[in-house]
Amino acid sequence: MTFIRLRGNGVSPGIGMGELSLTEPVLLAARRESISPASVDAELRRLKKAVERTKNELLQLKQEITVNMGEEHSFIFDAHLLILEDRSLFDSIQNAVRGEKVRVEWALTQVNQKYQELFDAIADDYFRQRKSDVSDVLGRVSANLEPKMKRRAEQDREKKEVLVAHEMLPSEAAIRFSRGNVLAVATDMGGPTSHTAILARSLSIPAVVGLHNITQQVKNGDFVIVDGTDGEVIVNPPLAVRKEFLSKKERYDHYFRELKKTAKLKSVTLDDVKFFPLANIELPDEVEMAFSFGAEGIGLFRSEFIYLQSTSLPKEEDHLAAYSRIAKAAYPAPVYIRTIDIGGEKSLPQLKIEKEPNPALGLRAIRFSLRHRDLFKVQLRAILRASVLKNVRILIPMITEVEEIGEVKLLFEEVKKELEKERIKFDRQIPLGVMIEVPAAAAITDIIVKEVDYLSIGTNDLIQYYLAVDRSNEFVSYLYKPLHPSVLRLIRFIIQTALREGKDVAVCGEMAADPLCALVLLGFGLRKFSMNPIFIPRIKKTLRSVELKTVEKVVEEAMNLKTAQDVEESIIERILAKHPKAFLLGQVM
Ligand code: PEP
Ligand code: MG
Repeated sequence: MTFIRLRGNGVSPGIGMGELSLTEPVLLAARRESISPASVDAELRRLKKAVERTKNELLQLKQEITVNMGEEHSFIFDAHLLILEDRSLFDSIQNAVRGEKVRVEWALTQVNQKYQELFDAIADDYFRQRKSDVSDVLGRVSANLEPKMKRRAEQDREKKEVLVAHEMLPSEAAIRFSRGNVLAVATDMGGPTSHTAILARSLSIPAVVGLHNITQQVKNGDFVIVDGTDGEVIVNPPLAVRKEFLSKKERYDHYFRELKKTAKLKSVTLDDVKFFPLANIELPDEVEMAFSFGAEGIGLFRSEFIYLQSTSLPKEEDHLAAYSRIAKAAYPAPVYIRTIDIGGEKSLPQLKIEKEPNPALGLRAIRFSLRHRDLFKVQLRAILRASVLKNVRILIPMITEVEEIGEVKLLFEEVKKELEKERIKFDRQIPLGVMIEVPAAAAITDIIVKEVDYLSIGTNDLIQYYLAVDRSNEFVSYLYKPLHPSVLRLIRFIIQTALREGKDVAVCGEMAADPLCALVLLGFGLRKFSMNPIFIPRIKKTLRSVELKTVEKVVEEAMNLKTAQDVEESIIERILAKHPKAFLLGQVM
């Protein structure tokens, strides 16, 4: 039994250990087999039957997951049913069978290959990972061509085990997780925004992805430890290591139990000042999990996902289904739906956008939406239609100048008039806000804020543009400092300007999820902190452990310091002097 330690990307925190179970890869690697022209019709009938079987199977699985885990987790199957109904995808399969006179298995393999390549060409991780949904559906259709070859995904397993896979298919993750016997997950492929990662997080199953080749180094029955917090996987550890991780696991479990208790506590500082922890989500599935972590609303729904659940352009009804689901699940809490932030490097196969030399400075977000007004109007109509419960708000990303807000408002009015004419109900008072992510917009916050109902500061982009540091470039990541004095001055200006105008302001970038940064933001006057739901408990604990009065003083004094490090040290030292038990670093105790 070989002892190995591997590093990957920890996407769901905690430690799980137990016997390893390898799940097999999807089999979409058929050999080319020609058929005679006379067999084409029979072959197409096989495809039709397999699609029907797949549809029934997906409906059945949806039912099973709804019963076992609740309706919120069955959304993946709706997405898969939509892919199954996608005309252009199935036209390509039929055309391949007809044109090349080949078996359906080969046509499915080819078409899948084509879609994988199209998705691979997308730089954005979140988008790229949606390709597994297409493989998942096509793999299921392929298995249903010969229904006797039962997929292992449906094999029942009672034993508790650690799943190890090359790539965990979204539907398979849902099925296996729903049976409640998965201790942890480790995969070769995947990233933090894959369905498996999101689902694992929402069910508190530790997971490490992006391990490259773990499947080639292990076998069924090996003992494995998955440390989802530190992104490590250990196979066949000696006793000493096993003991070390057992006690680490106890510490983590205790830490998470304690932290999660804060979900039920009031969001107030020691001197009873109310703050609002809000959630950033990327899938409608995440709403319930967000509330269980203590979210008091959805501060940012990254609506890009709608473009990914289908290989053709999403229709108004597709948008509407997702927004309504979120609005209902969150009701009466508010839901801020951000209009799509695609274009630039986040391009999509169905949109055929030209590659740009400098995508971060290119046609993305609202620039893209104003260039493709028909698509934008579809999204605005759906958001308005989902607003009947009156808890939906709109958020426009990447605003650079006031003129863009004017154009958005004109379009918005146009869409409202259309809906009125069609006698479709919506919230006439639906508020409209913008994200402050471009330094030029930040500098004219006083002008912009008068045009809108609220602001949300997207610090991820704002910092990258302000400091001229690519947020995903590891060579310059040492310069990416949210506590850089110039960043702090800019953010203080935005927050205080908005508040002076009597407008709501939130921060929805990663900064809100960092305990020290959250304190600084609180000191600036911020009360709305929107973040990945798993960080809500620690931010809540941090803000509950301090007095606003102290924080304001400490933060104001830190504004005169020269470097990010000075700011950090001064805040820690001075807060601890007043509140020795303050939870400043969010660390595992
Ligand atoms: C941001 O830029 O801070 C933000 C929240 O948007 P995204 O991370 O989706 O670009
Ligand atoms: Mg952004």
